[in-house]
Amino acid sequence: MEKKFRLANRSVSTPADPPSINLRCPECHRLGSFDTLKNTHDIVVQSQGDFQGNLYVGYRVCPNTSCNLLMFVAFQQVRQPALEAKVLVSYPAERIDFDASNIPQPIVDALEEAITCHSCAAYTASAIMIRKSLEELCREKNAQGKRLVDQIKDIGSKIILPNDLINGIDNLRLLGNDAAHVELKYYDKIDKEEVEVGIEFTKEILKAVYQYSLLVSRLEGLKKKAPPTT
Ligand SMILES: [Zn+2]
Repeated sequence: MEKKFRLANRSVSTPADPPSINLRCPECHRLGSFDTLKNTHDIVVQSQGDFQGNLYVGYRVCPNTSCNLLMFVAFQQVRQPALEAKVLVSYPAERIDFDASNIPQPIVDALEEAITCHSCAAYTASAIMIRKSLEELCREKNAQGKRLVDQIKDIGSKIILPNDLINGIDNLRLLGNDAAHVELKYYDKIDKEEVEVGIEFTKEILKAVYQYSLLVSRLEGLKKKAPPTT
């Protein structure tokens, strides 16, 4: 049953039917429709002009029965076009998905840290860790070139990646102009969008360098199992 009360001059209610929220679980990394705990309600703070729309806060549980992670969420209900929950904050925070199969550990550690920083809205720190993961990749592959950008292009010339993707790295400011060293001023204007593009770009390169070969060897394994053709 819905209850209404006032808190610090705001009208607050607890609607009886909390909405499901689509989230990627930070623990098991699966996408799911998260529901609230049984017999609990969200708290809804009515908008009073300093933010658009009512603010909902509550708990949600990962629907994966082998996980069942409990998350705290703050969200708004937006029409796009159906009514959907737009998550503003969650704890633990949602993370960008990353498959680390067959990738050397120093690169995985750096990119995981970049993703953690992104999930906490620490975009400058995330940009620096994206750069570190690419530096680790170039070191591991003994890439040639003075600047990091040149080293990545060197790797790009030896693997199968669309040319447009490799040429596009000149637009990534987080790689900076590092003829001598990284200048931190390049990180001043790096925002969420650039960090997300940087993470996706790094994932694509890592996939091409380390994971296509894994898939090829699995396909080769299937060939050995297949009955001989006559
Ligand atoms: Zn989960």
